[in-house]
Amino acid sequence: MELRLYDTLTKEKRPFVPLDAKNVRMYVCGPTVYDFAHIGNARPVIVFDVLFRLLRHTYGEAHVKYVRNITDVDDKINDRAARDFPGLPLNEAIRKVTEQTGRQFHADVDALGALRPSVEPRATEHIGEMREIIERLIAGGFAYAAEDHVLFSPQAMNAANAGLPRYGALSNRSLDEMIAGARVDVAPYKKGNTDFVLWKPSKPGEPSWPSPAGIKAEGRPGWHIECSAMAWKHLGEHFDIHGGGIDLVFPHHENEVAQTCCAFHQQRMANYWMHNGFLQVESEKMSKSLGNFITIHELLQDWPGEVLRLNMLKTHYRSPIDWTMKSLEESAKTLDDWYRVAADVAPGGPAASVVEPLLDDLNTPLAIAALHGLRGEAAALSGSLRLLGFLSESAAQWESRKQQASGVDAGEVERLLAERTAARARKDFRESDRIRDLLAAMGVAIKDSKDGTTWEIAR
Ligand code: AMP
Ligand code: ZN
Repeated sequence: MELRLYDTLTKEKRPFVPLDAKNVRMYVCGPTVYDFAHIGNARPVIVFDVLFRLLRHTYGEAHVKYVRNITDVDDKINDRAARDFPGLPLNEAIRKVTEQTGRQFHADVDALGALRPSVEPRATEHIGEMREIIERLIAGGFAYAAEDHVLFSPQAMNAANAGLPRYGALSNRSLDEMIAGARVDVAPYKKGNTDFVLWKPSKPGEPSWPSPAGIKAEGRPGWHIECSAMAWKHLGEHFDIHGGGIDLVFPHHENEVAQTCCAFHQQRMANYWMHNGFLQVESEKMSKSLGNFITIHELLQDWPGEVLRLNMLKTHYRSPIDWTMKSLEESAKTLDDWYRVAADVAPGGPAASVVEPLLDDLNTPLAIAALHGLRGEAAALSGSLRLLGFLSESAAQWESRKQQASGVDAGEVERLLAERTAARARKDFRESDRIRDLLAAMGVAIKDSKDGTTWEIAR
């Protein structure tokens, strides 16, 4: 079976044909590093990690290049730096914020079982590429300098009609309607009300770099140009897959396409545009004001990363996902079972019943249903789970982590079990029941069999 992917641009599921099967190229928009990542941010990380693993499985590990950037220049970073480190010069404070947040992001996504991308470019290391794209856009008549800013003109792009995509095609909007609906209080340096910023002046103390030719004052890039520059540097002018959350389709991805295609005279930037749906918590939009804003870091205090991963993959990536405690508990129970059955078994090849739904536009709910059907085939279950990024620990590690997290003292449990066995031997069933209830209250489930008594932490 061949891989088929849904493309946001053409709104259809198509067979995936790489531009070069020896070098399959994917770009995914990464985090802006100013704060802990929340569980919504984990969704693209996990979804595109599954795709990365599937591409590596299909084309070979050496033939897939996955680029996920780190946005380390942004107003939100500057604000956070000034707030958290008021005594430091702004540039130093910014470095502290981006380093700390970047480190935390890596710790979080490593725990989720996500492979590191092939390249993780930082925006601040690609300012030269940004300047070059901007200069090409100015030379081509798609952008102009005004009051130390450089603006991109979507109207110039659509007027050019020179083998370029139409501005608005990706997000399915009409430029005329955007112009009619735009705010009236547009910045005075903008010629058109839909023009967007490629470059802007820095305030004193803010990070700044030499500007594109024609602008004397130093400045800094707009957000959209960062991804065009990093994708170009690491994947070229035209590549296979570009991904991110659905909220990025407009304006971020629409503007990336415009910049890249106009600078390099391309009809397409990426052949497949993939977007994950949004995550909400207990049926509500996640927000700080509602008090239901959860970071990955907080969730990892209560749950192993693989439980979060499974919980995410139970929903198809394009559907909205409702993140609930109930579902997390079920995911934990499922993984307990899979660890018991498959973690210590030598993995076989992944089962066709799991791989085939994945090839069909990453149908992970169907793949997970197939995993449930593999309980009787431990080797296939093990291989299939590993393809999906699970079973990073042994069964014993998993169980002992669960015990640690529960705060249950294994020595104490063993001592109570020995007392209970002794009570049963002298037929003191009142005492043996009392001990069983005591253990249950501690969160320990026991199972008697002819070979003796085993126990585990109940979920
Ligand atoms: P940001 O740092 O806000 O630019 O987001 C980083 C990534 O997380 C982007 O791909 C966003 O689309 C994605 N994202 C942010 N919030 C959510 C959410 N609630 N559900 C799913 N994806 C999200
Ligand atoms: Zn981006």
